[in-house]
Amino acid sequence: MPVLCSRCRGAPAEVRVAAGRLRLCPDCFIEYFEERLMKTVQEFKMFRPGERLAVAVSGGKDSGALLHALRRVYPNLELLALHINLGIKGYSDHCEEKVRRLADMDGAELRVLRIGEMGFTVDDFLKTIYRNRVCSPCGVIKRHLLDSMTLESGVKTLATGHNLDDVLSTMLETFFAGDLAQLIRLKPVLPSRHPKQTKKIKPLIRLSEFEDYMYALYTEIPIRSENCPHSPAIKKGREVLEALGKGRPGFRYQALSLFLKKLIPILEREITQPELKTCGRCGFPSSEDICAYCKRVDLVKGN
Ligand code: AMP
Ligand code: ZN
Repeated sequence: MPVLCSRCRGAPAEVRVAAGRLRLCPDCFIEYFEERLMKTVQEFKMFRPGERLAVAVSGGKDSGALLHALRRVYPNLELLALHINLGIKGYSDHCEEKVRRLADMDGAELRVLRIGEMGFTVDDFLKTIYRNRVCSPCGVIKRHLLDSMTLESGVKTLATGHNLDDVLSTMLETFFAGDLAQLIRLKPVLPSRHPKQTKKIKPLIRLSEFEDYMYALYTEIPIRSENCPHSPAIKKGREVLEALGKGRPGFRYQALSLFLKKLIPILEREITQPELKTCGRCGFPSSEDICAYCKRVDLVKGN
């Protein structure tokens, strides 16, 4: 006898979710996922229903699930999907094609920026001092361009597909690096601190990587089948998270609650965020006279 879905009691259960207390059939899982996203949006007052919202879509399961679920939960929301083609050989064009199909399926306006047309690619960083760690300049470039594309479109809020596992593993890495000011940036809503900075939201913060994967699978959205050739097979924070959570299904949810309710308020009281200046070159926020983006672009173009 198959185990029946804990919700509808009619169909066989296929997925175990939320600390192992529920076993759901595909239809009830889709419903569960969308409800959880909606509650997160409401709990943290991420956006108002009539607002225009930019969504950073990479071609992967997380941001794909995000765009699709937002469309289904808020059918009248004006969604602007943003994609950056990073010019990574054998990977970026494949991602762009999936994003185009998804935006089409969800009736979202789409803007694609191909950095190759700006005169460089992420692969070009292999020839620089970043040869073993191109993910570092890639992150800087993506953050800057997503902000600028959002603002150029007249939109103020940018949603990204960061999930529960992303936030917790980055939290561990950042904590052990001793970067407490950076920890605050993992909050589900980050208000803008500069005229050229968008408000950032993470509507998937209460959903795990596995749940994003299952949602993408059950809703049959187009997502990439290739992995980025530059990304490490496993990140350190992930390994630690896996080890801590082994045999404790509720661990990650408790860890997130502790982080949001206990640690963040203390950090916000005690730590002053570094002052934001304005980059003398591009006018975007920066901690120094010239921002990290402008420096990386200079480096890769050999200026
Ligand atoms: P990552 O830093 O690659 O883990 O990605 C985190 C989030 O950034 C994703 O969930 C997306 O929302 C966004 N993102 C990453 N890569 C891209 C891209 N090439 N174009 C647009 N958004 C992206
Ligand atoms: Zn700059």
